[in-house]
Amino acid sequence: VSSRIETDLCVIGGGSGGLSVAAGAVQLGARVVLVEGGEMGGDCLNFGCVPSKALIAAARRAEAMRTAGAFGIRAIEPEIDRAAVADHVRGVIGAIAPHDSVARFEGLGVQVVRSFGRFVSPRELEAGGARILARWFVIATGSRPLVPPLPGLEAVPFLTNESLFGLRETPAHLLVLGAGPIGLEMAQAHRRLGSAVTVIEARRALARDDPEAAALVLARLRAEGIAIHEETQVAAVEGGTGGVTLACTDGRRFAGSHLLVAAGRVPATAGLGLDAAGVRHDARGIAVDAGLRSSNRRIFAIGDVAGGPQFTHIAGDHAGVVIRRALFRLPARVRPDLLPWVTFTDPELAQAGLTEAAARARHGGRLEVVRLPLASNDRARTERADEGFAKLMLVRGRPVGATIVGALAGETIQPLALALSAGLGAGALAGMISPYPTFGETAKRLAGQYYAPRLFGSPRIRRLVRFLLRL
Ligand SMILES: Cc1cc2nc3c(=O)[nH]c(=O)nc-3n(C[C@H](O)[C@H](O)[C@H](O)COP(=O)(O)OP(=O)(O)OC[C@H]3O[C@@H](n4cnc5c(N)ncnc54)[C@H](O)[C@@H]3O)c2cc1C
Repeated sequence: VSSRIETDLCVIGGGSGGLSVAAGAVQLGARVVLVEGGEMGGDCLNFGCVPSKALIAAARRAEAMRTAGAFGIRAIEPEIDRAAVADHVRGVIGAIAPHDSVARFEGLGVQVVRSFGRFVSPRELEAGGARILARWFVIATGSRPLVPPLPGLEAVPFLTNESLFGLRETPAHLLVLGAGPIGLEMAQAHRRLGSAVTVIEARRALARDDPEAAALVLARLRAEGIAIHEETQVAAVEGGTGGVTLACTDGRRFAGSHLLVAAGRVPATAGLGLDAAGVRHDARGIAVDAGLRSSNRRIFAIGDVAGGPQFTHIAGDHAGVVIRRALFRLPARVRPDLLPWVTFTDPELAQAGLTEAAARARHGGRLEVVRLPLASNDRARTERADEGFAKLMLVRGRPVGATIVGALAGETIQPLALALSAGLGAGALAGMISPYPTFGETAKRLAGQYYAPRLFGSPRIRRLVRFLLRL
């Protein structure tokens, strides 16, 4: 150890969560050290959200060319240059990267240490030859792809989200292990970019989502030619010339040219010296309270490593909680009931707050559910994207959850996410003047569905109107 650094806040990991804490804290006047051993920007920028959405965007263009016939434009089978697609993905990452760069953070006043860090005591971290003593530490080291202990897997070349986006040729037949959001997003993107695709899932696909909405996504994926096998356990992986075979416990065998492992994530805690720091952790991640404090009260954990839902916007929300706790000493907490998430398949599946099943379990008979088919939205009709539905779960006129499956669902759900986080009632949504024709009108129309039977079906209101008309 050659130097010693004393600071207010030391952030370990420069991804979605860590960068948000570092940028916020330094601009509020704290001394901040950021320790990042890999790529600045973390998973989201380099191996996650950004490349996956850029690949999906390319795939959507390809699909639009195949399906243009409905609009009176001759459909064609697109010629796909996978190397150029990979360059497009690289280019998008490159365009966003300066925002997450060492230069930007140093410009903000953050001291950036480009090295992996390891705790050597409850108050000290060693990184890049320096010993860092901080008043607060924030562990934001993210997660890594889970590689299941399947016999034979380590002996075959397989892809994960860390290698997939570098691929410069079209896989002839991509096998995808895991039908969660990542597995299915990549399955559809690859199918549309010209690969045969087979997905194997041990349990149910999109298991965390509303089953009715998930079923609609799966039906569309299957209609596009993706084979999805749920409740199917892989027993062993076999390599061969130019391919991989998944041997299943029921005797079925699935052969492909490439294998993508998207079977879950493991928290990135290895090598962090958590035991030396007195930070309790297990296979799910670092144990934290609702204020994201670990068993060492000077050490917070945020984002994927904190064992909860794994999304960039959650890591960002966590960053806000830590800043309010550490710098303002406010009793900020995470609010898991308000969580929104989107699966970027086509159709998109967006959820905010409780699913219908969770809302029913929580609120029982007080729960009201209103729904609309996407076909009732005129913009969805003009776009010929009218497959899907929206539903809103309410308790005494206040939204507790929303599910939308359909084109642009991740955009359409935004006002409903606002209603949840701001505690707005259905009246605020119904009173919004929503421009026509937009997908976004759905939020207002759902609130309208809630009021319609109360207003139009009520004999009392009809009597009142008839009385007022007589005056
Ligand atoms: C394919 C894919 C698609 C995704 N799509 C979406 C999406 O569309 N929307 C969404 O919200 N989320 C998405 N996610 C999830 C999202 O990427 C993560 O939830 C998010 O990146 C978590 O942020 P984080 O700060 O916890 O970790 P990360 O962003 O992964 O950052 C952790 C950083 O810590 C560094 N690090 C690790 N250990 C150490 C150490 N000991 N010392 C120093 N540095 C260390 C790593 O190098 C890394 O840069 C996707 C994930 C994947 C894999």
